[in-house]
Amino acid sequence: MAKSGGKIEPRTRHFRIKKGDTVEVIQGKENGKRGKVMRVMSGDERVVIERVNFIKRHVRPSQKTPQGGVIEREAGIHISNVKLVCPSCNEAVRVGVRMEGDDRIRFCKKCNVQVDKG
Ligand SMILES: [Zn+2]
Repeated sequence: MAKSGGKIEPRTRHFRIKKGDTVEVIQGKENGKRGKVMRVMSGDERVVIERVNFIKRHVRPSQKTPQGGVIEREAGIHISNVKLVCPSCNEAVRVGVRMEGDDRIRFCKKCNVQVDKG
């Protein structure tokens, strides 16, 4: 395998936000809210954040929900509207990425501390 070449595989197109990260919303009606990323939808570049951006959905009566009614669940937020909360300085920060050997290491651009576990 050639070391250079810059081939980008769509599936591994990286996001700087990962499942399990704590993020802060920086835009919209949920601005300022923090939560844990439950899911990254890389296809539409959205993240689902625990207890943030609830939407109500009306459901028809069915076998599961004989009454029908309204269910609430988290809706995705576009990845550009969230920032990672740095575990070290506890602020919503920009994330940098650098390569260390074959590993992609994310780091806080504010305090320069590595975000991922080494
Ligand atoms: Zn930091």
